[in-house]
Amino acid sequence: MIYSDFLGMKLSRLGFGCMRFASNPETGEIDQEKVNRMFDLAIQAGVNYFDTAYPYLDGKSEIAMAEALKKYPRESYYIADKFPGHSLPGPVDNIALFNLSLKKCNTDYFDFYLLHNITEWSIKVYEGEEYHIIDDMIQMKNEGKIKYFGFSFHGGPKLLEEVLTKYEGVFEFVQIQCNYLDWTLQDAKQKYDIITKHGLGVWVMEPCRGGKLANLSDENKAILRQFSDNSDASYAFRFLQGLDNIKVILSGMNEVEQVEDNLKTFAEYNPLSDEEQKTLFEIAEGMKSSVPCTACRYCCKGCPMELDIPYLIECYNDYKYAPSMMSSMRIDGLDDDKKPAACIQCGQCTHACPQGIKVPEILAELADLYEKGPRWTKTHKDRGDAIRKDLEGK
Ligand code: SF4
Ligand code: SF4
Repeated sequence: MIYSDFLGMKLSRLGFGCMRFASNPETGEIDQEKVNRMFDLAIQAGVNYFDTAYPYLDGKSEIAMAEALKKYPRESYYIADKFPGHSLPGPVDNIALFNLSLKKCNTDYFDFYLLHNITEWSIKVYEGEEYHIIDDMIQMKNEGKIKYFGFSFHGGPKLLEEVLTKYEGVFEFVQIQCNYLDWTLQDAKQKYDIITKHGLGVWVMEPCRGGKLANLSDENKAILRQFSDNSDASYAFRFLQGLDNIKVILSGMNEVEQVEDNLKTFAEYNPLSDEEQKTLFEIAEGMKSSVPCTACRYCCKGCPMELDIPYLIECYNDYKYAPSMMSSMRIDGLDDDKKPAACIQCGQCTHACPQGIKVPEILAELADLYEKGPRWTKTHKDRGDAIRKDLEGK
């Protein structure tokens, strides 16, 4: 296993993400035996980092992770968990919710604790005075129940810069979605640079983009086979191995074979060659077919509605690649008069755009995608109800 140094700790570069455990198809319950087997294999090969979150697998992930770890000494592994601020039904007893997670994880402290999923929408909750989440979590840190404090992030680079500047000294690490496709599609490069500039460690989630980069098209597979017969996923991981400030790469493993393949990839440091990297970026370009906005902002000045056009195009590109709740959450965070539907189709921006991008058409389509696509609001309500219930029965 390859390791990274982080504030004197030796963290396995491969972290075990606990959000995709397999369930028994008959009972719907997590297949605990399989989870135990996967953990044993990973631990024997040197994995020492396990990442869960309050809402993963409807609240069952924390418990299954604790069950699989209970036979190992507590000081032999690191646990990361997350505060579900983005899922709260309204202000709640944050400390009680935190303690509930400790209990489910069968521990009295978290090595790593993150504010879950900061976006342009959820930042309003995390910073809301009536929620006092950050103050409460700092208190948990002062009491030794959190060793290292960070946040997972799904917003844009502008917000990331603002948060890191405003809370200088509060956080020690940031978890972002980073892989060779999102390097440009979701500005992962820019985010990696911002976090590094602020002197914090980068943690990676979705290294294979929800499995998409672990199972490429036959055509793209054939391109990679010219280098080796190794799995598609191994290329995605090796791309990340080459980035020095990435401390932990989380993989949501749910099959024993997947654990074995990942362990093989992380057995030694083997970043991509220049030629392999160039090939991966070409594959990514072919997969994206996104609108080529360079974020020059020439169009923004004359927009009568003062829309953040490059930001909206970023959201559009994300929707076109794979619509998800995360895409909708980024638009949810905007005031109504800044959402894509606020565009009055005047066409000023198209004249200003050196790339000839037909912005009004794109924004009309985005408004439609946002209206009809997966929406965070429904999941938010379900999760909020579950948190209320949990706290009532704590
Ligand atoms: S077409 Fe829409 S985005 Fe473009 S300048 Fe007019 S209002 Fe703004
Ligand atoms: S002018 Fe064109 S390239 Fe520049 S930010 Fe606007 S849409 Fe993007």
